Amino acid sequence: MSGPVAVATWRFGKGAVEGALKALRDGGTALDAVEAGIRVVEADPEVDSVGLGGAPNSEGVVELDAAMMEGRTLRVGAVAALRDVLHPISVARKVMEETQHVLLVGEGALKFALEHGFRRQDLTTEESRRKWREWKDAHDTIGLVVLDGEGNMAAGCSTSGSAYKLPGRVGDSPIVGAGLYVDDDVGGAAATGRGEDIMRYCSCFLAVEHMRRGLSPQEACLEVVRRIYEREGKVSVYLVALDREGRYGAAGIKKGFPYAVGSEGRSLLLEGAYLVEG
Ligand code: ASP
Repeated sequence: MSGPVAVATWRFGKGAVEGALKALRDGGTALDAVEAGIRVVEADPEVDSVGLGGAPNSEGVVELDAAMMEGRTLRVGAVAALRDVLHPISVARKVMEETQHVLLVGEGALKFALEHGFRRQDLTTEESRRKWREWKDAHDTIGLVVLDGEGNMAAGCSTSGSAYKLPGRVGDSPIVGAGLYVDDDVGGAAATGRGEDIMRYCSCFLAVEHMRRGLSPQEACLEVVRRIYEREGKVSVYLVALDREGRYGAAGIKKGFPYAVGSEGRSLLLEGAYLVEG
């Protein structure tokens, strides 16, 4: 059996895989590792697409989407269009563990978070307000898949979604099967890119099903982006995947998808496979 492995989207995923592996070293579960890893990125004001300092919607308000899934039980918790809470991944976990529901949105999600001890805070920064005033494009997601040393897997993702979206818009990240999926029998995947395209192809569920029928994580990601490319052309869709053996891979339709991988003692940045130059 493989030792612990974590794989995450984008350059900022390095902080997430390192946070996840530390949580496992400290005796945490795969779920603890996903939560800890994603919290690192949510708290970083330099990351302009997740948590604090994330891109606001068209009205200048930050609305966050996040989800968490457990590979052993297929339990899922998610929040969408959640305002004013720094760690939506932790609220998503509470939805999973303390309610009978999968997804809470908007006002209801905020009320639930406040009732569970989360603090209300302004998530804009000087920089995010400046960019909003200039209306620059920004989006990305921290997606993280973790395998602990005992064959347990978990996946999570967190994002402020597409920049300057309509208030109430929900992307792929909190939608199970779209932005994330994990099954201990097979492996897991997480997505980033244009949520509207990722969702319509049930991308992460599809990646896991490709692994179930024998494809490697890398081939599975490529197969998903190929399917989308055939109908949609050069849209922004990127996936990372990790299987129960600890094998990992990543792919996008277009070139330019750095992703992070970590296993005991080290983490590194790699370039995802791609179909077209750009
Ligand atoms: N997939 C996210 C969304 O559409 C954004 C991103 O990852 O770029 O909400």
